[in-house]
Amino acid sequence: MSAVRPRWAPVLDAAGFVAFGAVAAFVLRRLGPHFDTGTEVALVAAGVACGYFLADFSSGFAHWFCDTFFEEDTPVLGPLLILAFREHHRDPLKMTRHGILELHGDSCIALTPVCASLLLVQPAAHPVVLFAYAAGIAFVGGNLLTTQFHKWAHDRNPSLLARLLHRTGLILTPRHHAVHHAPPYQRYYCVTNGWANEILERIRFWERAERFLVALGLPRSRDIAPPAR
Ligand SMILES: [Zn+2]
Ligand SMILES: [Zn+2]
Repeated sequence: MSAVRPRWAPVLDAAGFVAFGAVAAFVLRRLGPHFDTGTEVALVAAGVACGYFLADFSSGFAHWFCDTFFEEDTPVLGPLLILAFREHHRDPLKMTRHGILELHGDSCIALTPVCASLLLVQPAAHPVVLFAYAAGIAFVGGNLLTTQFHKWAHDRNPSLLARLLHRTGLILTPRHHAVHHAPPYQRYYCVTNGWANEILERIRFWERAERFLVALGLPRSRDIAPPAR
């Protein structure tokens, strides 16, 4: 089963880029006056690290959910959400053939309201709020770049920039992500930087979360291996 990209999709993706760019510019601008003291810089840096870690976790959660529940032919949810993740397992290189609009358009559209919600927060209100604001920016930024990092992890000829970033450990590396694309295909779902993967494996997070949602009645996909005993 293969999805055909509608002809109007690039227009929608471009609109998503413009909307996200405009909102993100406002959000980043409000952080500008908060680099005056060492304390503020430390709070922003700590917030960015936390937000970037949480972006990794959220990338893993969405990936795990779409790999584990429902089917490609489930009404509405299947073509909108599930199909892309299942296709990625059948053809991991497909995303390396996507252009920038197709690769990031959906993320821009989904993240614009999340980014806009940061405009409701006043970073000058309290040091904790400044920390949370910086975390929010890194969360949105990390989620936006997740598809790019995931693509670079599959790229057979990664750019110089991608190779340099792989060496820093700040983004998902091909070697780390290869664990997810090897049997039993139910590990290392996080694809922003992979920082959360080993922690989540050690506490058997995905296994426990799966049992919890199955108990609530969510249909486990036929595409994955039976649960571990
Ligand atoms: Zn997967
Ligand atoms: Zn992958």
